[in-house]
Amino acid sequence: MSEPHPIAGLTSAQFAEAARARVGRGHGVARAFYRDAVGAGRFEPEAHGLSAAPAASYRASFAFALPEVLRTVEEGEGAITAKQVLRLADGLEVESVLLPMGHGRHTLCVSSQVGCKMGCTFCETGRMGKLRDLDASEIVGQLLVARHVHGWPVRNLVFMGMGEALDNFHNVLQSLRVLTDPGGLAIAQERLTVCTVGRVDGIRHLADAGFKRLNLSVSLNAPDDPLRDELMPVNRKTPLSKLQEALRGYRPRANFALGVNYCLLPGINDAREHATGVARFCAPLGRVMVNVIPYNPGTAPLTRAPGDDEVDRFIGWLRDEGLPVRRRITKGRSVMAACGQLGNVELRRSRRG
Ligand code: SF4
Repeated sequence: MSEPHPIAGLTSAQFAEAARARVGRGHGVARAFYRDAVGAGRFEPEAHGLSAAPAASYRASFAFALPEVLRTVEEGEGAITAKQVLRLADGLEVESVLLPMGHGRHTLCVSSQVGCKMGCTFCETGRMGKLRDLDASEIVGQLLVARHVHGWPVRNLVFMGMGEALDNFHNVLQSLRVLTDPGGLAIAQERLTVCTVGRVDGIRHLADAGFKRLNLSVSLNAPDDPLRDELMPVNRKTPLSKLQEALRGYRPRANFALGVNYCLLPGINDAREHATGVARFCAPLGRVMVNVIPYNPGTAPLTRAPGDDEVDRFIGWLRDEGLPVRRRITKGRSVMAACGQLGNVELRRSRRG
C-alpha cells in the first residue's frame, strides 16, 4: 500500500477524490472529515458514524500528524508576540511567529523552507543555507498548530518566515490553494501575503496562478544595484531593472498595492539618497505601501539596530518623496522572533556533523 496522504496538504476536493480512489466505502462523508481535520484539528472517522472497516481504511490512507511543538517562546502580555519551533517528521526544525497587529488581530508569519539559500547578509536564516523545501502540509501545518495546539487567534498569514517563498513555488502554490479552499480553511486571499526577495520567475508564475486578491510584497532593502548586490546576492543575477519589470507585470486587480519592505540598516542604507532611490524604484510600479522594518541584529550582526529617531527620519524622507509608509513595530526581538532573526545555525552545524 502507498504512503498515507498528509491531509493538511490537500484541498477538500483533492481529499474527496483521494478518498474515492483509496477507501472502499464511506467516502460520502469525506468532506465532513476534512472540515473537522483542518477546522478543528481532529481526524476521527469513527465520530462520523463509520463502521470499523472503512474507518480503518481512512486511517491507513490518510495522515493527520501535525508537527511536534519543540518550544514556544512568548514576549509581552495580552497581545503577545510568540515564536513556535516545530519538529518535522525528519527531525528538522522550522519556526513561525505570531505577531499582534492591533484591534485583537494577529498575523502568523510562516516558513516555506528549512533554511534558505538566498544568503541575504542581514538575515539569520540566510546564514543556515537551505536544508530543504517544506511541502504544502508542512506549511499549512504551521497554521494548524498555531490554531489548534496553542489556540492563537490567527487572522492573517504572511510568507515571511524562514525561506524564500517563490523558491519553493509549487508547494507554496498548493498551500495557497489549501488555505483559501472554501470547503476547508476558507481564508480570504486578501489576508494572505507572499513575500519575495525577487524571484522574477516566481512572480510571473504567481501572476499566472489567478489569485486576484492575494497580496505580494518584495523585500527591497537597497535602492541601487551595487548596494543590493552586496546585501542580497539574488540581485547579482536579477538586477533591479529586471525586478521592476516583473513587478510591473504583477497587477492582479485594479486597486492592488504592492508591499515594498525595507529593512533599515544604520550606516548602510539609511541616508537621504537611499530614500530618493526607493522612490525612483517605486515610481513605475503603481500603488505601493513601503514597510520600514528596523534591523534586528541576530547572532552575527551586520550593524546595530537603528534608533527611533533614525527610523522616524528615514520615514520622513520617504514621505517627502510622496510614498505611503508604514513602520513595522519591532516585535519579538528578545525571543529571536523578529524579522530576519529566524533560523538555527546550530541545527545546521549539528546535522552536518
Ligand atoms: S531575508 Fe528571506 S530570502 Fe533572504 S536569506 Fe533571509 S529568509 Fe532567505
